[in-house]
Amino acid sequence: QAKTLGSNQICRYTEGMDEDNRNRAVLAIDLRAAIAGNQLEIYYQPQNDTRTREIVGFEALVRWNHPSLGTISPGLFIPIAERNGLILDIGDYVLRQACRDAASWPERYTVAVNVAPYQLTQADLPARVSEVLGETGLDPRRLEIELTESGLIEDRNRALSTITRLRELGVTVAMDDFGTGYSSLALLQNFPFDKIKIDRSFVQSVGEKPQSAAIVRATLLIAESLGIPVLAEGVETEEELSFLREQGCPTVQGFLFGRPMPLASAQVLMLRDGLHLASLADRLQGDR
Ligand code: C2E
Ligand code: MG
Ligand code: MG
Ligand code: MG
Repeated sequence: QAKTLGSNQICRYTEGMDEDNRNRAVLAIDLRAAIAGNQLEIYYQPQNDTRTREIVGFEALVRWNHPSLGTISPGLFIPIAERNGLILDIGDYVLRQACRDAASWPERYTVAVNVAPYQLTQADLPARVSEVLGETGLDPRRLEIELTESGLIEDRNRALSTITRLRELGVTVAMDDFGTGYSSLALLQNFPFDKIKIDRSFVQSVGEKPQSAAIVRATLLIAESLGIPVLAEGVETEEELSFLREQGCPTVQGFLFGRPMPLASAQVLMLRDGLHLASLADRLQGDR
């Protein structure tokens, strides 16, 4: 199978590895070329207000358009990139491109960028973010940096100072996949997050599992006490949306409102969202 993926050299290099390791090794080699060869593309998924249904922002989610394998999901190649250090190049690319794209959108939309654990260990991360903001002209308040637990536990002091410096730039720092780690509550206690993203594993079962509904409710209460906003991930049905709205969750993201999509499609969505706003304003005016 490796033969269809690359050269004989790769076949020799990967001989003796098991299937999974061989695939990973081949992908790792191709990934270097991918970054240089413009094979990475950013998809954008809308984030919506639970009451008005309006779009409030987009999350940038990277895709790899592999020349022979087609689209490869980040769940597959980000872990590989984390292990071989390529995540730094990928992270730079995603940050720069997402900020550049967002700078041309209507100002009411934010853009969320995922930052991998290894990126967070880099002391110059805030400086890079600051540089990209300056270069693209994006208002720092429109940029959200999403962090996951694994990046926060290894070197806590380093992570804390990095988060503090990012917040000083005016950037929003969000905790991604809340509730899935080993110490979500301890992290909330020790790091100054501006936002919590409830993991979709809880949202997807709010209808079936009383436990999930309880966890979502409790998370919303904690966030409210802390005075920080919440976004619920993975909302696929109107029932899930109603539940979240009734429990006071302000924003959601999920297939119900849109899958991650290429930039051009996201721009069409913005246009429609804008028209909706315009007609809403018309109606309000008509009422007077
Ligand atoms: P994440 O940051 O938690 O992103 C949300 C993931 O949930 C996305 O998967 C999205 O497509 C998916 N999702 C959103 N709504 C729904 C829904 O209603 N139902 C279902 N079943 N899934 C939904 P995706 O794009 O495959 O990304 C997976 C993960 O890969 C991300 O999880 C994030 O951890 C990582 N990732 C993606 N892009 C980047 C990136 O640029 N840099 C880094 N470091 N990680 C990234
Ligand atoms: Mg995320
Ligand atoms: Mg998440
Ligand atoms: Mg997730």
